[in-house]
Amino acid sequence: MRARSIRFRLTVWYAAVLAGALALFAALLWIGLRQRLMRDLDQDLAGRADRFERYFTAESAEFSGSTLKDELQEFCQALPPESYLRLRSDRGFTFNYPDRQPLAATQFRVIDRDFTINGEHYHLMAGEPLETVLHTLDLLRWLLLSLIPAVIGIASFGGAWLSRRALKPVDEIAAAAHAISIENLSGRLPVPATGDEIARLSRVLNQMLDRLESAVRTLSQFVADASHELRTPLAVIRTTAELALRRAREPEVYRGALREIGAETERLTRLVEDLLALARSDTGTVEMPLSPVDVRGVIQAVCGEMAGLAELRGIRISALVSDDPLTISANPAALHRLLMLLLDNAVKYSRDGGEVRVRAGCDDSRVMVEVEDSGVGIDAADMPHIFKRFYRADRARGGGGYGLGLSLAESIAKAHGAEIEVRSRVGEGSVFRVKFPARSNLLREMLTSRAGEHCELGAIRRVESAE
Ligand code: ADP
Repeated sequence: MRARSIRFRLTVWYAAVLAGALALFAALLWIGLRQRLMRDLDQDLAGRADRFERYFTAESAEFSGSTLKDELQEFCQALPPESYLRLRSDRGFTFNYPDRQPLAATQFRVIDRDFTINGEHYHLMAGEPLETVLHTLDLLRWLLLSLIPAVIGIASFGGAWLSRRALKPVDEIAAAAHAISIENLSGRLPVPATGDEIARLSRVLNQMLDRLESAVRTLSQFVADASHELRTPLAVIRTTAELALRRAREPEVYRGALREIGAETERLTRLVEDLLALARSDTGTVEMPLSPVDVRGVIQAVCGEMAGLAELRGIRISALVSDDPLTISANPAALHRLLMLLLDNAVKYSRDGGEVRVRAGCDDSRVMVEVEDSGVGIDAADMPHIFKRFYRADRARGGGGYGLGLSLAESIAKAHGAEIEVRSRVGEGSVFRVKFPARSNLLREMLTSRAGEHCELGAIRRVESAE
């Protein structure tokens, strides 16, 4: 048993507490018995002295001198062996029983008393040897001193055995935990069937391992997908360069190849930036200082930037926002990115000549931004997956995306305490709604001194009636 193991410490504590309790019990038992025996002895002696005093008073009225002593001697015959009596008077009367001096080595319990008969003062001493009492106490002490260590020894042995049994699952759990590593996260700790604290601990650790395993699986999937996605543009760049260099060509051909390489490099850069942003948001190292931002300004900017691209495909972008400021706590660059991602998708998945609407309004506690398109819509089967990394509903459709846009959008929304909701119908279009927590509505209400609810719902209504 190792000196610092729980089993060792439990056993030592157990033995120490038991030894203390037994020592206290033994001491109290011994002292109690000693007092009891002494009190019995004292009562015996007092009774004997009483009887002797009465006898002496009666006899001394009738007899005197040696006759009286003979009578007293006769009385004393009935006394227990080894006990003694001594009587002295101030007028010189003495009586000793027995005549001989007691052995010096013998210990006595003695009581004495004084009494007076016809003006003569007597001093009486009655003694009884302590031998029997001391012998009984010695026997008890010997029994206690030899039995207590034996009891402690047996109990400690039992305690050590019990704690070993109770802690055996811990050794098994430790051995199983030892075998679990980042390469082998599928192992689980044994859960003892006892239903006790150790079983609970084991179960909780197993749940933690489940979460870790799933996180590691997601992470390695992410790395695998990222490498896969990086390979394609790199291969395009390489083959384009190799093909162009295979033989001498017209300058226009080189220019075309370089343009293609430039475009691929740009896509690659975007992909790497997205990956970096996602990796940073995963590790929580994104620097995102928040400040009060009026969403309407950002919407305007994003719509302006997308207008040109949309126009090329005959898609109209309209922004319908409330007249009141829609202020939230946000990072302006990240918010711009989030709305850009949603609007980019809305345009990307719209049919040529379609329409994209961006709406913004607020209710009691939230500021909402909606991006609605009348495009291809999202299949119900794809819906649960669209926010996953590298998920693209229809890979064959192309469109240049990597399936990272929505997961990026979601992680930006999360950093703002916002949620993204999606409604979509295949063939009819989709609505992405982001709900931000409003920035101190109360303050704004107080400043504008208008009933908050009326103002906010009014804002939404105005937006809808503008359609
Ligand atoms: P991608 O780069 O492919 O656009 P996203 O993460 O932005 O990646 O979107 C994931 C998938 O969700 C898309 O591949 C697409 O199938 C679907 N999707 C996203 N936005 C829309 C939309 N507005 N209309 C239809 N489908 C959409």
